Order: sequence, then structure tokens, then C-alpha cells
Amino acid sequence: MGAFASIAAKLDKIIEHLDFSSIDKKDKVAVKMHLGFRDGYQTVPVFFVRRVVKAIKDTGAFPFVTDNPTAVYNAVDRGYTAETCGCPLIPIAGVKDGYTERVELNFHNVDSLELAGVLRDADAMIDLTHLKGHNSCGYGGAVKNIALGGYHGPSRWRKIHGVEASIPFWDPDKCTPEHAKRLVEACPDGHINYDEEKHKLNVAFGMCNQCLECMEADKEVGCLDLKPENYALFQELMAYGAKAILDTFDKEKVFYLNFLLDITAYCDCWGVGMPHVVHDIGILGSKDIVAIEQASLDLVAKEGLIESMIPSIFRNVNLDPSADLHPFQRLHGPWKDPYLTPKYCEQLGLGSTKYELIEILSPEEVKDMKGPSGVSETQPSFF
Ligand code: SF4
Repeated sequence: MGAFASIAAKLDKIIEHLDFSSIDKKDKVAVKMHLGFRDGYQTVPVFFVRRVVKAIKDTGAFPFVTDNPTAVYNAVDRGYTAETCGCPLIPIAGVKDGYTERVELNFHNVDSLELAGVLRDADAMIDLTHLKGHNSCGYGGAVKNIALGGYHGPSRWRKIHGVEASIPFWDPDKCTPEHAKRLVEACPDGHINYDEEKHKLNVAFGMCNQCLECMEADKEVGCLDLKPENYALFQELMAYGAKAILDTFDKEKVFYLNFLLDITAYCDCWGVGMPHVVHDIGILGSKDIVAIEQASLDLVAKEGLIESMIPSIFRNVNLDPSADLHPFQRLHGPWKDPYLTPKYCEQLGLGSTKYELIEILSPEEVKDMKGPSGVSETQPSFF
């Protein structure tokens, strides 16, 4: 019960280890966060944001918190303001989400993405992330915070969320409208829809939990072919998206902090409060985006799911202990393997999946430390 051993002190020590001295005086430092939407308050607590911001200011640089314009606009509802964070909050691609720079990708059906201009302008970046599950790619971490959050809205919603369908999964010539309607009905969660006029079948890959009941219903016809490759495209594209952003920075001026606290099944975009499905683990810091993601996923795997906290909307959760699945795969389906993201990032040279965990202020280290006594309500004292 001493401030010297609290999680706040640990964050300060992690920042000390990360060593912000490569940030130059007057650098403009983007603190890229997800500020949540509507009632989705389970993001990185402003208490910690202030500490990170202060550490950046101590270098003589100018930090600003940034995220998409909607999240910035109503961030005040979740407690994030210039006063509480200690620095301005700036929309990542301008107030109309149109201040961008084109990045050519030519990845399947994604020819290019529009990189957020305000992030592009920054001299340094703190990728400040709330780690949680994610319905499209298993988990949301440091990679997703920039690989989606670093692009303007249409890039995210119309291009990245949509790449899974670029590997053909349905043969329109083999499918009659009647059969297509049967496939729609076969999905218990309503993740298949059919446009009869255009004779076009869509699968919401981002929500699909791979129960494969639709494939079962298609057995006699064979027009539907959902494959792990479809689902993996999202993760692979994220790796390319993250690389394009990191290429705009001096590697020495990018730092990662993953908060493994209040770990929910879905990401911060949903705008609602959710049960935490994994116990709090702590805060991870690194200068290697791949290492921090791999370590975060390993720690979540070690901790496992809190079964009683899994929301009932998860119809197809696999809790079989003999199944070799990450906790987030148990929730979102076996083809949403979260480890694919660090693997693809490693292949692109963004870092290494090999890491060493250094525990900061471990119980052994702090057990003999003595804190000052009688400090309650004395800073300042009003009585
Ligand atoms: S695999 Fe299951 S959840 Fe996914 S689209 Fe088919 S029926 Fe729906």
C-alpha cells in the first residue's frame, strides 16, 4: 500500500526505461489513442494519459492527443479534455477528416489508403493503446491503433473493413436466388445478406464466428467457400497499413505502451460498456511494435478468459481446454488468430516476435521499500 509500488509508479518507471531522450525539444509528439465512442469509456484512463503527456513535456517537446474527429469531438464525454490530458486534442485527419496523404498499397482490392495528415505531421509518436479483443482480427492492440486509427474514415470503413471479401468466396453461377435465401437463413447471427436484384451475396466477415452452419447448408450446392485466407487478409492489410505509418517516423522517436487493463471482448469502437473477459494484467512498454504485441497476446493467453464474464451474445464460444486456441480465438472464432498480426508485421521487418519481459517494481523488489507515513489527505491538506 505505497505509492512507490502502485501502477502509476510502474508506468513512470516504464517510461523511464523507454527513454524519451530521443524526442527533441519542440518536437510535435502525437499521442495516438482510441478515445472511445459514445458510452464506450473503457479506454486508457486519462489518469495515465496525463502522466505520459507530462513525461513528453519534460523533454521540452509539444505533445498532443489524437484520434478520429468524432472520437475527439465527443472525447469530453469520457473525460478527455485539454485540461485533463494536459495537452490539446487534435482530430487526426482534420475537422472534416479530409486532411490526408495518399499511400499506394495495391493489396488485393485495396489500391491505396489515405494516411491521416496530423499524424503525418508529427515528429514523434506514442502509440498509447488499450488492448482488447476485436471481432475482425481477434484483438486490437498497438498495430490496430495506428493501422486503422492512423487513416481517415473512408479508408477504415470502406477499404480495410471489406478486404476479406477480395478472395472469392461465393459462386453466383452455382447459386439460385432461392438457395441464396436459404444461406441467409442458415446464419443464426444474421451475418449473411443477399441482394436479389444484383444477385449478390455478402458475408459480414468482421462479425462471423466461423460456426460454418452456412457451409453445412450449402453442402449439396457448393457455391459458398469461406476460407481462413479470407479472414487473414484483414490482419495482413493491417501490417501493411502500420508499416506505411511507421515509415514516416524516425524509428527512435516511436514508443509503444499497451494497457492490458479492463480487457473487453470487443474493441473501443462499439461505444458501449462491456464486461472485462480477462483479468487485469498490467502495462507493457516497448520500442518494438511486434514484441509488445506478441508479449501482450502471450500474457492474455496465460491469463485465460473469465468464463462468467463472457457476454451471452457470444453464441459459439469454444471453452474446450484441449483446443489449442488463444482466448480471443475462443470468442471470435478459430480463423481470427490474433498471432497473425505480429507474424505479418515481423515479415515486413517491423520488429521481432522474440522478446524478453522485464518486470517493473516486482513484489520482490518493493517488499522492503518503506513509504512516507501519514500522507493521506495532505497533498494539500484542507483541515
Ligand atoms: S460461418 Fe456461421 S457466423 Fe459465419 S456467416 Fe456462416 S453461419 Fe454465419
